[in-house]
Amino acid sequence: MLDPQIEKLLKVQSRDVHLLKIEQDLQRIPNELSSLKEKISAEEVNIEGAKKSLIEKELSRAELDAKVKDQEASINRFRTQQLEVKKNDEYRALTQQIEQLEMNVSSLEEAEIKLMIDIDLEHEKFEDDKAIIESRIFDLKRLMDVHLERENVLQDSLDKAKQECFEARDGVNEVFLNHYERIRKLTKRPPYVVPIVNQKCEGCHLRVSNEVARSAREVGEPHFCDQCARLVYV
Ligand SMILES: [Zn+2]
Repeated sequence: MLDPQIEKLLKVQSRDVHLLKIEQDLQRIPNELSSLKEKISAEEVNIEGAKKSLIEKELSRAELDAKVKDQEASINRFRTQQLEVKKNDEYRALTQQIEQLEMNVSSLEEAEIKLMIDIDLEHEKFEDDKAIIESRIFDLKRLMDVHLERENVLQDSLDKAKQECFEARDGVNEVFLNHYERIRKLTKRPPYVVPIVNQKCEGCHLRVSNEVARSAREVGEPHFCDQCARLVYV
């Protein structure tokens, strides 16, 4: 026959385990939230990185554009001068300068076209990447919401679980309860009250002595595993 005190302690234990589970789950949530936050920040950095490269290319394009305009202004200036010069050699010198500038303009424009194609491709890629990253961020944020909701649910059940632990202790023999509380503190991890099965303690899974195996059948007083000191019963 199972000792009624052990029966009561098993109920206490089951409620303690339930409370412990709630507390452990609650403890894990802040870490899970901060790890999700870190992941979101890293994703945002990825978007910024891709945007930065695009902005740099846009700036180079603007610089090339300014250079082209600058050279074209010089060409126009030389052309005006050509209208005013009287000597042939001066006219030819200006023509040479204009031709040189026109070559510069043409190669600058070529570079600009290449860059514009590059920007177009990169822009497309950026939009695609951004959409993927944003959907990942969306999922991460949703996961954060799930954790926050869970935190609320756990927090709500915490008081009830504590109350149930308290109530379950009501009416347990003091000697049994004191041993239980002592073992609970020492063992840190449940179970604290375990059956002996095939002469093995179900807590530490080691073989108990014949003496313990035999005396564990006696009701009315607590019995302990001689290996791990847990409360045992048969
Ligand atoms: Zn044991």
